[in-house]
Amino acid sequence: MQKHLSESNNSNISKISFEDNCICVDKNLIIDKFIEANILARKNIESGNITNRGIAANVCTFDNVWSLGTNFNNTRNDISSLCAERSAILSSYNNFLLNRNSSSTFKIKYLVLVSSLSFNQKEPLLVPCEDCLCWFNNSRYFDSKTTIFTLDKTGDIPLIKTFRVEQLLPYFKIKTTNEYSKKKNIEITKKALESMKEFAITESDIKGLFNEAYLSYKNNDLCPVSNQKISCSVLANNHIFVSKKIDWTRRWFVEPLEMCVYKAVEKLGRETFIQAIAYFGDEYFGNNDLLNQDGVVSIRSIGRIRQKQANCKTILILNLKESIKVLTIGEYLPLKFRQGYKI
Ligand SMILES: [Zn+2]
Repeated sequence: MQKHLSESNNSNISKISFEDNCICVDKNLIIDKFIEANILARKNIESGNITNRGIAANVCTFDNVWSLGTNFNNTRNDISSLCAERSAILSSYNNFLLNRNSSSTFKIKYLVLVSSLSFNQKEPLLVPCEDCLCWFNNSRYFDSKTTIFTLDKTGDIPLIKTFRVEQLLPYFKIKTTNEYSKKKNIEITKKALESMKEFAITESDIKGLFNEAYLSYKNNDLCPVSNQKISCSVLANNHIFVSKKIDWTRRWFVEPLEMCVYKAVEKLGRETFIQAIAYFGDEYFGNNDLLNQDGVVSIRSIGRIRQKQANCKTILILNLKESIKVLTIGEYLPLKFRQGYKI
């Protein structure tokens, strides 16, 4: 540990503390893992990473094997870039395969996330991006016991914060259904009610938007490869736009939320604001078993649209088994909005 301390050149490292309600773990070990990852992130910057941004993650499986990863940027676009979290998860998976015995299964216990900045430099709280959150949300490799450690460096002393996957993704375990019923109750959260009032949206508008998504789903014959039909409708500047998922190949498809917002922006221009989103679809890829869910809602797409065309107040309408749930995307991805990024 002393070796890391001197290498890390972080003079106030001894002052790092855990927030009061942290999930109980070996604190010295976690601090050590923050330091290791910070050194790797710094090496990434020193090597000339094109984004000039270094983030690293240290992940631990339930077999207590740790693996490091940093962000990889071949270009700046999302196809040839990979975040530190996913990079570390892949590194961990490779280590797992090389060392596995027949009884072990791959599951992430801890993920420690840190930037290349020294521990005494202030910066906003690091929270996994929506592309990384998709991995947490739709995969068998994370569960309710997975803990994410990240540094709050907004105060005088860096504070280690701990999050369970459910705190980043409160709807992690709540699945939608493709069963349609006109008799279902509409369940609206307090925040969504505030948004409805602000955007002058009535319950009948919500039902109308939901029905558009359902009709599009019902008439979708463009998903013969995955057999997973999903449709989306959005209300933007009081206009409705509807899109259905289209399969290209087994792997590649057109995501309907992004298509809806694309249509809206093309028609309405830069002043487009997404008031509400309704999703209707199949949770599962037709050839998957029930444990390997793909999900109806694309967290990745919400990540794309929320920074310009939508905000934390944008309404999200989901078809749950017992009710039609109306919430906000701020409630769906709470940490991303608390993070306070501005563009
Ligand atoms: Zn990411």
